[in-house]
Amino acid sequence: MSDIQLIDSHCHLIFENFEKDIEDVFLRLRAKGVKKLVHACCELTEIPKLKKLSHEFKEVYYSVGLHPLEAKKWKLSSKSLLRRSAQEDRRVVAIGELGLDFFKNEDKTQQIDALIPQMELAYELELPVIIHCRDAANSMIEICKNLSKKGNCPKGVLHCWTGTPKEMKQFLDLGFYISFSGIVTFSKAHEIHECAKIVPNDRYLIETDSPFLAPVPYRGKRNEPAFVEHVAHFIADLRSTDSITIAKESFKNAEDLFKFDLLS
Ligand SMILES: [Zn+2]
Repeated sequence: MSDIQLIDSHCHLIFENFEKDIEDVFLRLRAKGVKKLVHACCELTEIPKLKKLSHEFKEVYYSVGLHPLEAKKWKLSSKSLLRRSAQEDRRVVAIGELGLDFFKNEDKTQQIDALIPQMELAYELELPVIIHCRDAANSMIEICKNLSKKGNCPKGVLHCWTGTPKEMKQFLDLGFYISFSGIVTFSKAHEIHECAKIVPNDRYLIETDSPFLAPVPYRGKRNEPAFVEHVAHFIADLRSTDSITIAKESFKNAEDLFKFDLLS
């Protein structure tokens, strides 16, 4: 297991709960073979912190964008601020996390008004999007299909996948990747297990979504990138293969999507 190499394709480390032991968090993720991580951005005021973190720790790449549950903060000037942030730092590898969340907020118009310009920006900058989609698969698919028809749908990943196999197929058909989080380790997540079984080798990523959703055996605790190995173990079992294979496939897929290599 010592030569395993992993990418945590989605995490958040700038929240208060990492303030005291961030150095230890990096020691632990290095010990587990985590070579890169993508830090997702929830709102524009986080960007300076993300930039700083990515320059302190060589593993850190990040996205810039506005989360659907923060959609009310979208302003006319937000698009140009995101464009500038993405263009001025080579550690920015995606736009997001963006998307739709009708579970916690049903103001669909507000969320769509923040989503579309970010999708357009990602296409313009040739960056992938990190999509947060909760209880909103049909609307998200429709928006992506419309962009796709016009020929300007960006590439991207459905992060922390919680949909059905049927929904997954539609996103795969649109060219998106699917990312599995610690939820795949929960025993009752049957539909997600099914998705992890059938997703093509070259179309999935793995993530922790730290500090949320710690995988079994850490369920209920603070999550951190070192735990991404447990996500890999569970997916390996579901796909009747070994963790090394899952690590290799998901590593390559994350590199293909985020193109880290072109940056350094
Ligand atoms: Zn997130």
